[in-house]
Amino acid sequence: MNTEPELGVDIGALSARLRFNPEDGCIWLERERMLLVHLSAYAAFRKELIEAVGQEAAKRMLMRMGHAGGSSDGALARRARPESDMLTNFLAGPRLHAIEGMVVVEPVAHSFDPATNFQAGEWIWRNSIEVEAHLKEHGLSKEPVCWSAIGYATGYTSVFMGRPILYREVECRAMGHAQCRIVGKPAELWEDGARDDLQNGLCLSEPWNSDTDHWERTAGVAAPALEWSDGRLLGMSPNFVSTMDLIGKVAPTDAPVLLVGEAGVGKKSSARALHRLSKRARQPFVHFSCSVASGDALDAELFGLEKGALAGAAVSRNGRVERANGGTLFLEDVHCLDARAQAKLLRVLQAGEVERLGGGQPRPVKLRVIAASTPRLMAAVRDGCFREDLYYKLSAFPIRLAPLRERRSDIPLLLKHFVTEFAGRHDKRIRSVAQSAIAFLLTYEFPGNIAELESMIERAVILAPDAGTIDLSHLSSPLDQDSPRFFSVSRAGRLSMGGTEEPAATDGTPSLDRLLDGNFSLETFENEIIARAVERASGNLSAAARELGMTRPQLAYRFRKSRGVEEDEARDAF
Ligand SMILES: [Zn+2]
Repeated sequence: MNTEPELGVDIGALSARLRFNPEDGCIWLERERMLLVHLSAYAAFRKELIEAVGQEAAKRMLMRMGHAGGSSDGALARRARPESDMLTNFLAGPRLHAIEGMVVVEPVAHSFDPATNFQAGEWIWRNSIEVEAHLKEHGLSKEPVCWSAIGYATGYTSVFMGRPILYREVECRAMGHAQCRIVGKPAELWEDGARDDLQNGLCLSEPWNSDTDHWERTAGVAAPALEWSDGRLLGMSPNFVSTMDLIGKVAPTDAPVLLVGEAGVGKKSSARALHRLSKRARQPFVHFSCSVASGDALDAELFGLEKGALAGAAVSRNGRVERANGGTLFLEDVHCLDARAQAKLLRVLQAGEVERLGGGQPRPVKLRVIAASTPRLMAAVRDGCFREDLYYKLSAFPIRLAPLRERRSDIPLLLKHFVTEFAGRHDKRIRSVAQSAIAFLLTYEFPGNIAELESMIERAVILAPDAGTIDLSHLSSPLDQDSPRFFSVSRAGRLSMGGTEEPAATDGTPSLDRLLDGNFSLETFENEIIARAVERASGNLSAAARELGMTRPQLAYRFRKSRGVEEDEARDAF
């Protein structure tokens, strides 16, 4: 199939995937964090790179950098609308390249055959940022300089098509040409050592499998964490990775560990991971929540009970400490221990002895204690409610577990995990999660942390239609009073709060200025009016048509078309 495609992809719809959350210092393109870099900084870095490693090596590095970004966007374009026209999907790449500020792409000629994964084409690039960077620092060049853009085009097309497609720049404005011109075709059709180009410059060691989701491949980086996973210990954010590093370091020792973090951050999962990675892994892991009892009941439960010590105590029994002998005792909410229990626990840690309620001989125990608390423990120490000596004994190795809002880049991974888990548990098929839902999750504060995310996703999986999409309405929870605080790019290029959210107006009609400030699309607006009219007429198309001043066939045609559009837009598979 030979075509001269127009870049008919809706730039508004693509821009809506770009969201700015200045409060968190995060820019997101769908679920990948992005970076705005000054041209002057980029040009200076590029110059220094060339001077440090030479032009050839710098070129290869920048090509690989572009390749990584292009691969990521190629995966995004593939999963965005998996069942719609492949050429239309493909053209998202040139649009994304422009949205990301690299270059404007104009098609010259294009061959595209989805049946054979064949893609070849010629394109013109205007406004290349690399040309500007090069001219600024080096003046005119003897060879093309748009290296990372070429890497991007190659990475994007190859991941999208599922086979190596190599691009080369045949004219470049940095050489004095009127514009940059690139040509791309399958690697095997390049005669002159294109394979070497690919292997040296673009790191083709990864298998070319279009079914491999870039997200999954990236998630593979956190493989050690996944090994310890019981569902909640998943991530690749800096906060998560450094916590896992601490856990990995302290796990093989016998040092007591104090896990501090808000409710729901995964303290129990971390304690289990510590146990599994320790030399006590085959011994018991005993969990006790110190907040569930007090006084004699707490004493008996934790340290054991001698016969006759309490009314009704007909036989002696051991407590959690003795049951954990040889293994790990995990004490949750340790700040809730009363003074007597604190003294007894200190004896366990210092002397390796436990004394049951009701006296008797102290019994020797050898175990590792992992304690967990919220930041309230420190307040209890300051207030004199918690023994300082016990605190220092327990906190030989303190680990702070970051709240979810400080590791938002793990949310996509956790989301995917929980959706898969709950879909299996509730026997539901979930095809995708809508953009609006992902955007909400990436900006929500999560006071209940991972536990809250987990419940929210379980509820959403139950509410979503079978074989359907989780959308924003399925995510609302009683706690989420705040609407998401993010900015996205309007058609006019301005950042606007809430981006594509429906514009509201006090008189019930959207203000035209507000509409135009958002990612307004006449087609979407028309579809919404039609949908509202049909809804008001309880599905009676003739009545809705009268209200809109059109004939029934006219309305029926537009209504069917709008439904199709909506379904396409809802698709955003993992
Ligand atoms: Zn160029």
